[in-house]
Amino acid sequence: MGMKRLQAFKFQLRPNGQQERDMRRFAGACRFVFNRSLAFQNENHEAGNKYLSYVKMTAWLVEWKKEPETQWLKEVPSQPLQQALKDLERGYKNFFQKRASFPRFKKRGQSDAFRYPQGVKLDQDNSRISLPKLGWISYRNSRQVVGEVKNVTVSQSCGKWYISIQTEYEVPEPAHISTSMVGLDAGVAKLATLSDGTVFEPVNSFKFNQKKLAKLQREMSRKVKFSNNWKKAKRKVHNLHSRIGNIRRDYLHKVSTTISKNHAMIVIEDLKVANMSKSASGTVGQPGHNVRAKTSLNRSILDQGWHELRRQLEYKQLWRGGQVLAINPTYTSQKCACCGHTAKENRQTQIQFKCLECGYSANADINGARNILAAGHAVLACGEMAVLGRSMKQEPTEASRTSV
Ligand SMILES: [Zn+2]
Repeated sequence: MGMKRLQAFKFQLRPNGQQERDMRRFAGACRFVFNRSLAFQNENHEAGNKYLSYVKMTAWLVEWKKEPETQWLKEVPSQPLQQALKDLERGYKNFFQKRASFPRFKKRGQSDAFRYPQGVKLDQDNSRISLPKLGWISYRNSRQVVGEVKNVTVSQSCGKWYISIQTEYEVPEPAHISTSMVGLDAGVAKLATLSDGTVFEPVNSFKFNQKKLAKLQREMSRKVKFSNNWKKAKRKVHNLHSRIGNIRRDYLHKVSTTISKNHAMIVIEDLKVANMSKSASGTVGQPGHNVRAKTSLNRSILDQGWHELRRQLEYKQLWRGGQVLAINPTYTSQKCACCGHTAKENRQTQIQFKCLECGYSANADINGARNILAAGHAVLACGEMAVLGRSMKQEPTEASRTSV
């Protein structure tokens, strides 16, 4: 059994004059398409509509190629233009998932780049690469490219043109150094509690910095728009945004690395963060009660980046030869890890679990983590590996479950 590994190889290009002019033109066209779509999206959003998907944006592109003043887009290879729209869509996704700040307009000289997802021919023996509508271009060959070429990005920096070749190849799957199996309970008061009693405190960077962020945003709103002071204030807001993101990412990486190093099998609940966020507002048949409390609970969950932690655990386990097993979360918080008695009344408070049947009492998160581990053992015993890893389909979960 093998696993896929991605790698990027970057070289300096040696284009001729015509190729250089064409590359500059293609990069400019991609920037134009990105910026124009961003402006359209903003307009559309200000009119009260939702952000439009990549597919909708490609329809604009088709229209622009027909309009007399933007017909020149037809001379540019289509795929890089479409990739620019993909980049914009990814920018929105990253923003909505709090991984990045809002997409910004691209400036000439700062982002002269375009990407081909296919149609590329690599001739390593002759140190040249063939790109659609550019032909063969020589490059400074400094190392052997390994793997199957997945996509190629052409970029310009300080007057020089570069190519970055992303490849994918199979490597033998490693075996995890540990044989330990652990249950992980994702929480609000704690980021994660393991069935062996290990506790990871939450990431509070967001809440802590939120007041500061609000203050900076107020300051910015008082400045004259586009004035130097406004720009200064805007930069401060942007810097704080990225600082918050960096603190969170660093912390989550530390946690996921620690857990992944120590345990070959990590059993988690298959919680759908999106479902949990939705349930607060309720449905037509069942209006949400306690909306405000749930909204803030949901915000904390998102804040702690449970979604991101799971993603990191999954790929780090893949690297180490370990696994992540996602189990159905039903009753893991109400069930007694000792005798199996399941009742809402077992859970009188958020913190404490006390079994009404056998008297077993424990920290509620540790009891939950032990149940998750037990559910993992049960799944493995039955051979139901349906929810293992990223590539496989996930079991449907109960959307109604909101306790963690
Ligand atoms: Zn019990």
